[in-house]
Amino acid sequence: MAAITERPTPGDRLLTEPLTQGEPGKWDGEFAAPPDLGRTVHVVGPVINVKPSDTPHPRNSRGELGPVMMTHRNRLSVDPLSRVIGEVGHALDRRNVPADALNRAPKGDINPVRVQVSDPAAMSRHIKRVAHYLGADVVGIARAHPTMLNNGRISDEGMAEGGAEPEDLDELCRKYPYLIVASTAWDNEMIQAHRHRIGDTAYHGSQQKGNLALRSLEGYIKELGYTALRGTANGQAVALAAGVGELGRNGLIITEKYGARVNMSGTLMTDLPLAPGKPIDLGVEDFCKVCRKCANTCPTNSISFGDKVVYNGIEKYKINWLTCYRLRPFVHKYWEACLTCVAVCPYTKPNTWWRTLAIKALQTTPIPARGLVVRGLKWLDDRFWGAVKQSRVQWMGYDSGIKPGEQACTIAGCTADHEDHGQSGKVAGEVGYYFPLKENTNRFVKRDKV
Ligand code: SF4
Ligand code: SF4
Repeated sequence: MAAITERPTPGDRLLTEPLTQGEPGKWDGEFAAPPDLGRTVHVVGPVINVKPSDTPHPRNSRGELGPVMMTHRNRLSVDPLSRVIGEVGHALDRRNVPADALNRAPKGDINPVRVQVSDPAAMSRHIKRVAHYLGADVVGIARAHPTMLNNGRISDEGMAEGGAEPEDLDELCRKYPYLIVASTAWDNEMIQAHRHRIGDTAYHGSQQKGNLALRSLEGYIKELGYTALRGTANGQAVALAAGVGELGRNGLIITEKYGARVNMSGTLMTDLPLAPGKPIDLGVEDFCKVCRKCANTCPTNSISFGDKVVYNGIEKYKINWLTCYRLRPFVHKYWEACLTCVAVCPYTKPNTWWRTLAIKALQTTPIPARGLVVRGLKWLDDRFWGAVKQSRVQWMGYDSGIKPGEQACTIAGCTADHEDHGQSGKVAGEVGYYFPLKENTNRFVKRDKV
């Protein structure tokens, strides 16, 4: 397996650093074979189950990725909309944030009278229909495998709860053999304003809805008389095994309908008898070998130009999430989530006939010949959508094309926090402005055409 050789960044060493916590699991019996995660990801060695407390949000909350005073939680956002749909810690009063009440709601009991399931496939179709009705855009079901679990549960606020020995995870998979991933997509037009409050709103707004959908689905399964454990599994692994999507070079699950604009974080683990799905082939494996648009445009150089690596026993494209998330505390005043690698990905498009046609063309081309098709599709994507996304988006009084010194408000009734809503013609505040990091990426455009 090739190591990362191109354009080393200060954070690249973190890609190959061994994990320091936990022991690798030694799976045997029914778990001896690794799970089938499709063409983009392979479990090839011992895996240390990751503690949720070692993941980016808790680390940012503890101030480990930036100065403590700059942590992205517990700071009042300058943008009122971000305060109520963003991180709970951004609001003046958390009681103004409905998602906070939802997060702190006590867990419900399981109905002692079980609905009997004679046809798991029919129950799977039913659960998917219910999940969609409750608001989820994508739903998948996978067979549980210990390598797909977190070491401890992710709580409602993304923090760690508990921890477990590998054998406990084995036992967990035996007791609750099915994993469900259910999530919501981000609005395609809004995320064109990546590195901007508009993109943030699409991201956080969708997460709030996704959280409600998952909580409702959890309650539904309990009412059927079965256990539903939230946050025990890695949502990306479940999505891969369930056939919801494939892992891109950008470290995101790329789905058939929405491309990369879905945050695959919400999972349930259950003993409700279900029929697991299978990995799908959208051609992401072939596309990412050629494309590299996300690596070209990432402002923090967190996405590799090189081949896949083996990290913690898993062969995949590994992004450097430490450098990616380290950005957040420092740009918090302007926006919160970058999303450039989501917006720029050729798979992230409106779900139209020509997009479906392009994916079908790739899927039906024999694998050895796909490189040629990818080059053609990538050429089209660059011509029609641009190698670097710079679309101007106007939404609810926010305007991604406005620079400081220009009027930021475009409609009456704007609620954004500009000094005087641009009436004086003076600096209109931070809203409606691409943070200048974007300009830094232009120097990589040439490399993109190689
Ligand atoms: S979110 Fe932004 S900084 Fe992070 S990997 Fe994607 S493009 Fe890079
Ligand atoms: S932008 Fe290109 S290289 Fe990056 S994930 Fe999407 S298809 Fe793969």
